[in-house]
Amino acid sequence: MKRIAIIGSGIGGSGIGALIATSFKSKINLYEQNNWIGGRCGSYLKKDKLGREWVCDVGTHIFGNCDKGFLGEILNKIGKPDAVKWAYCRDPGPRINMMGNILSFGLKKISKKSGAEKKKKPRKSKKRGFREIINEMSYEDTYKFDDVPLIDYLKQEKLNAFMYTLQAGLMFGTKPTETSAGEFLRCSKLNATNRAFGYSFGGTGAIPTAYCKAIEENNGIVKLETKVNRIVVEDGSAIGVEVGKDNEFVESDIVISNADIKSTVLKLVGENHFEKDYVERIKNLVWGGQVCSLKLGVDIHVTDDKWLNYVPKMDASDMKVLDPNKLIEGDITAKDVPKKVVLMIVPISNLDPNLAPPGCQNLHTVTPTLGVTQDEERKKISKAFEKACMNTLLDLWPEIEGHILWTDFVSDVFLDAKLGKEGAGTGIGQIVGQVGKNRPSQISPIKNLYYSSADAGGWGVGTELAAKSALDLFDYFKQQKILV
Ligand SMILES: Cc1cc2nc3c(=O)[nH]c(=O)nc-3n(C[C@H](O)[C@H](O)[C@H](O)COP(=O)(O)OP(=O)(O)OC[C@H]3O[C@@H](n4cnc5c(N)ncnc54)[C@H](O)[C@@H]3O)c2cc1C
Repeated sequence: MKRIAIIGSGIGGSGIGALIATSFKSKINLYEQNNWIGGRCGSYLKKDKLGREWVCDVGTHIFGNCDKGFLGEILNKIGKPDAVKWAYCRDPGPRINMMGNILSFGLKKISKKSGAEKKKKPRKSKKRGFREIINEMSYEDTYKFDDVPLIDYLKQEKLNAFMYTLQAGLMFGTKPTETSAGEFLRCSKLNATNRAFGYSFGGTGAIPTAYCKAIEENNGIVKLETKVNRIVVEDGSAIGVEVGKDNEFVESDIVISNADIKSTVLKLVGENHFEKDYVERIKNLVWGGQVCSLKLGVDIHVTDDKWLNYVPKMDASDMKVLDPNKLIEGDITAKDVPKKVVLMIVPISNLDPNLAPPGCQNLHTVTPTLGVTQDEERKKISKAFEKACMNTLLDLWPEIEGHILWTDFVSDVFLDAKLGKEGAGTGIGQIVGQVGKNRPSQISPIKNLYYSSADAGGWGVGTELAAKSALDLFDYFKQQKILV
């Protein structure tokens, strides 16, 4: 029986733990430094003034493929396909509100009155649309475009640059000049095939909680509020971890880190244990973009939408964060933060009605805070973004004024402090040079040390990237007979 230490209960950590616990003879110790399960995919409770409890999510609000994607694949593999109940974003499906015009994700105009899609007009040109391109392309073909920046690919295919860079921004939080076209094509193809955007009943934390339950039901232990301080390496091999306030040494045959890859290599293990080139490679990896999330409870019904991307009318000066050419000019400071921002809005109580008291709605929003790197500016920038998110919501739904029961704001500063990855939304950015064969491997150069997270291996959007990292690592263990 192999003793396995897992550092972190994010999707990558809890996912690989569940897969191992249910398939191999093992004794898992999973350590989570925070008091909630799931890292960026966790949920927590928020009380309103009447003492009512609302479920809030730390980060994630929409899953690209629900049960049909990598998150569901883990549940299937651990023999618990029904451990999570899914709510699809349908009736209405995902929408874009482009300065008052309501569009479907395929950019078709939606009649405001009926919510039904307008009658399809015959296509005038013979030009291939994005849907046709991804339908015709195999997953294998997408890898040919891994090193092509998305903006170049869109220009070459004469596709709507604004729309698809907006989508890629929401998917990866990366700049269109850097985003890998291959990764965008793969993820879009999977979404288009499955048509299963949605959400998990009970909050996003229901997924890592189900994974952790599988660990506990199979002889494993999940310890919250227990930080791993060091990965102990002897003679080029990981031999265990030092954990908690007392720095207890826990001997382990295998160590899997779900902590961010830079912290794992540079802090938990230490540079001196790796070859110089590897350390340089890790140091030079670029995080995906930072994001922030404003959540609020309102005591009125404002929307039937299940997922709405809102593009408000913006001042010319505010367009900087939307203009791919201006984005590459450099970082932004607090005074550059627009008064209104592009918001991804998920009224989570429209997906699971239990997430708000009767008559109320639980609205979660996300916006990218692209390009923020100056630490001293970060707190000011964060405040400015919180304000911008609220301004945008009030612009969209002025009627919520006076009906807001509570708000919560998850900033990139909070994410950095509590979860690492320098506050990145996802992990190591899905940009040219960091996807496909160029993505850091889950297999570290140190014997018995592995990574499972949105930082190493895999492909997919956000949580699904972390789940794919876990699934591929699990396959590796099986194929190499490292675990039996
Ligand atoms: C605001 C926001 C919105 C998002 N929206 C979406 C979305 O709509 N859809 C989507 O699919 N994805 C979304 N994402 C991205 C998604 O949440 C992440 O990509 C994914 O959850 C990352 O999983 P992970 O396992 O790699 O890491 P994490 O979730 O970061 O988990 C790592 C865990 O390791 C723990 N840890 C770190 N160091 C230690 C240590 N030394 N000891 C013990 N524990 C440690 C951390 O506390 C954490 O719990 C969003 C993220 C954010 C922040």
